[in-house]
Amino acid sequence: MKFIETRGNDGSHAQTVSFSHAILNPIASFGGLYSPESLPRLSNVFLQSHLSSHYKELAGDLLKLFAIDIDNEVIEQAISLYEQFDDPANPVPVVKVDDDLYVSELYHGPTRAFKDMALQPFGLLLSSIAQQRNEQYLILAATSGDTGPAALETFKNRANVRVACLYPDGGTSDVQRLQMVTEDADNLKVIGIHGHFDDAQNALKRLLGSATFKQTLQQNGISLSAANSVNFGRIIFQIIYHIHSYLELVRQKAITFGEKVYLNVPSGNFGNALGAYYAWKMGLPVEKILIASNQNNVLTSLINTGRYDLTQRPLINTTSPAMDILISSNIERILFDLFGAQRTKELMTQLNEQQFYQLSETEHDALKQHFCADYCNDEDGKQYLKQTFAKGYLMDPHTATCFKVHDSCRDKPLKSIIYSTAEWTKFSPVIDNALTGKKDAHDIDALKSIAATAHIKIPAVINNLFDKPICQSTVIDKQDIEKEILAFLD
Ligand SMILES: *Cc1c(COP(=O)(O)O)cnc(C)c1O
Repeated sequence: MKFIETRGNDGSHAQTVSFSHAILNPIASFGGLYSPESLPRLSNVFLQSHLSSHYKELAGDLLKLFAIDIDNEVIEQAISLYEQFDDPANPVPVVKVDDDLYVSELYHGPTRAFKDMALQPFGLLLSSIAQQRNEQYLILAATSGDTGPAALETFKNRANVRVACLYPDGGTSDVQRLQMVTEDADNLKVIGIHGHFDDAQNALKRLLGSATFKQTLQQNGISLSAANSVNFGRIIFQIIYHIHSYLELVRQKAITFGEKVYLNVPSGNFGNALGAYYAWKMGLPVEKILIASNQNNVLTSLINTGRYDLTQRPLINTTSPAMDILISSNIERILFDLFGAQRTKELMTQLNEQQFYQLSETEHDALKQHFCADYCNDEDGKQYLKQTFAKGYLMDPHTATCFKVHDSCRDKPLKSIIYSTAEWTKFSPVIDNALTGKKDAHDIDALKSIAATAHIKIPAVINNLFDKPICQSTVIDKQDIEKEILAFLD
């Protein structure tokens, strides 16, 4: 599989690049992204022959279809990390919640959020490539809560890779902060910033773009890379679970083979939804992809009006913070796939310069053929959490946004798969409030309250966090970030 650029080629990049090139150097000409030149086709024979296979086997065979430039042995090792999920044979359980509604649980990995689905194997791949090339990498990450723990966990003690992870001090949940500051490994540095997530993110962007910073790293034999969700090395692993979830519905006799389904995705940077789109393009029987947002509903507007508009749109802090995103990076790959590189460059340039773009009517129609979107505010989300718990299913506030879309977006009586992106333990104060009415509880009290209400146990990986020693205590002003990172590398 070869990769081409979403905004066309500027003459200083290769026309097509390999998978390993695209994951080490994720930014392409004109600030674009790498996208697959073509996708493999899923034949019915392929799909049917995997009706009885384990997740790992499906993943291995799918990755073979992609024909990427990574040794089979390394791919096998990467995929075997799914064996460390709760159920080694089935890392992604699909649970029936209603007659027409199934939830695909993507959070059974080490950090209890769906970022593990892609970052776990990605970390091993990146470290293996770095070792083969005898190169050293620094991964910079900025997190509002879920990416940081998952990135630290995957790169912990891996050769040839170091991670510096920035988070807003006081801006994450207790559990998320503890997941980061209790990480004890020489190749990891966790840095709290006095400020908001935007401050951390902007500092990271500045460093990624700084020639002097890169030069200083080069003098120390270190290259810079990023593990954010535009990296195709993450996207490739997000195609697999959509296919798995479909096959799971066939196995559970919810559908017959070939019957179409709705895929309902709680979206932020659109990596999860992009994986669904590629799976559909490859031949998975999908009716439509339903996009759920919170009040930061820029994607809902795009899909419903054809206009992506950042003017007069401040970021709103919601109870589903992993979806508090206004610049949804992976939409660019959809634009590229539907409208080509020239038009994508035009639209993205306009977004940069004028803070909006407007699709033509035909373009908007093409988008609507694939997607339907709606958003769910915090109050409605709370009601869905409560109602669904009353039916016997406990979920997190991100997953809850999909239930609104489930009610508003379907026009055919087909089965739906909702993707659940976090375990209840990661956003416990919000869930406790929805279930018991308690307000502003600390995580530990909210966890205990939910455990008692739902008659379940707090998973050990979460419970133990509260007793673990803090090994990462750096909290600094944002102007000291570069100095702090360079000191870590020394
Ligand atoms: C990252 C994240 C999302 C958004 O996923 P995208 O692939 O960025 O659209 C949704 N829910 C949770 C809990 C997340 O961590």
